[in-house]
Amino acid sequence: MPITGLHLLMTYQCNFECDHCFVNSRPEAKGVMKISDIKQILEEAKSVGNIKKIYFEGGEPFLYYQTMLWGLRAAKDYDFKRGIVTNAYWATSVEDAKEWLNPISEIGISDFSISDDVYHYGESEENLAKYAYEAAKDLGLPVGKITIEDPEKCLKQIEWKGKPVVEGRVLFKGRAAEKLVEGLPRKTWTEFDKCLDEDFSNQSRVHIDPFGYIHVCQGITIGNMKQTPLHKLLTDFDPEAHPICGPILRGGPAELVREYRVKHEEKYVDECHLCYSTRLNLRKKFPDVLAPNQIYGL
Ligand code: SF4
Repeated sequence: MPITGLHLLMTYQCNFECDHCFVNSRPEAKGVMKISDIKQILEEAKSVGNIKKIYFEGGEPFLYYQTMLWGLRAAKDYDFKRGIVTNAYWATSVEDAKEWLNPISEIGISDFSISDDVYHYGESEENLAKYAYEAAKDLGLPVGKITIEDPEKCLKQIEWKGKPVVEGRVLFKGRAAEKLVEGLPRKTWTEFDKCLDEDFSNQSRVHIDPFGYIHVCQGITIGNMKQTPLHKLLTDFDPEAHPICGPILRGGPAELVREYRVKHEEKYVDECHLCYSTRLNLRKKFPDVLAPNQIYGL
């Protein structure tokens, strides 16, 4: 399957520091995309030929609002569909949210996703995501919510032999693998013989970060477009030959442990927990593939 979507991690910075964040975002994180970076990505995306959609996300893309607007306009000029993922920190009321959203509505987008869950807005807090949702609806934007379940409730409903039945569960990679695994039920590591969330042999989208890394899963890269042109990285990607994707395709995170004889615990919470923990141990061996430091909390 050709890659049709590029997800731009415009910045690793975020006003929140959520326990479940895959990319370890936090307010003081380094890495911000500039207009020149976005311009290069869009130009190269056009030359790839298959790319249809550009997402603006992070971190929190509204922290760099004018750069994001520039990117949306440029993506429109290149005839790409456009999407945004935000935590809505800027939506202090429905009226104010409309001021932020009006320019986006004028440009036009095909997907506007708002994070709305207990990680972003606790039950006793004012829920800004709801204001953003209402404002977006009023403006006719194609808006949806991303809601991540409380892992303790969610894990009880997981069918361990197959795909989880609950959408929006926490994946225990990134900060979640360190902050949220305590006290949760675990399974023996050999049972995690399949990746349930990424199919590298049918990769349809990649994430691009402010340092130029191209990710097929957060923290698993296929190169850096500041060193090699994007179209070459995408066309040269051979998942079977990739040092991390290959073993995962052959037998999930358990195979990654076996092939590189990585030290491990006996039990893990889910396949991502085993995968991320194993990758942490493999970073010295594959520093250019398992990057950047930011995602690994360093
Ligand atoms: S198992 Fe590994 S490759 Fe698959 S989604 Fe989880 S962290 Fe990503």
